[in-house]
Amino acid sequence: MTIYEKVKSAVTIKQAAERYGLDFDRKGMARCPFHDDRHPSMKLNEDYYFCFGCGASGDVITLTAKLTGLSPGEAARRLTEDFGIGGNYPVSVMERLRTYKDTLDEERRCFRVLTDFLELLRGWKVRYAPNSEDETPHPRFLEACRMMEPVTYMVDLLIAADTKTKRELVNSMKEEGKIGELEQYLEGIREKEESIACR
Ligand SMILES: [Zn+2]
Repeated sequence: MTIYEKVKSAVTIKQAAERYGLDFDRKGMARCPFHDDRHPSMKLNEDYYFCFGCGASGDVITLTAKLTGLSPGEAARRLTEDFGIGGNYPVSVMERLRTYKDTLDEERRCFRVLTDFLELLRGWKVRYAPNSEDETPHPRFLEACRMMEPVTYMVDLLIAADTKTKRELVNSMKEEGKIGELEQYLEGIREKEESIACR
């Protein structure tokens, strides 16, 4: 079954009309979107429509295309998404899903490395805090003071910001090589601390 056939067998004309904002009465009469129709002259049947004014007729896909301003191919895809019609999606949709998954993976990686870093900084702030005002602060204490706020802010963004903002943050961290750098930095510190602990 092609995507067209699947959509046509799964979604009725009236369901599509309802979803994409074409009003119709109890007899299934609607104001035709294909011509300037003042009184309802388009009849919505189960699987096709017909306009008594201008003669327009077609199926659920051409109607959706007209109502949404999409091409028929795009309209068919939109219908599969909006009505949850599963099965053999065309390649473009599979690609989109894959990209989406990659995006989520990158976001998780970013989140993990930032929260690891934050945890480390929190520890440092306590562990390396100077004991008196005269004591020269430990570089790790200073780093914790400097970095905790921006790192907390980035973690907050990854938790609560909208998709676009998250995307921008992840992209900028990735482009500048920041994620990898930070991962290596944390790895280096972990190894150092482990070798101290083992002594
Ligand atoms: Zn018409």
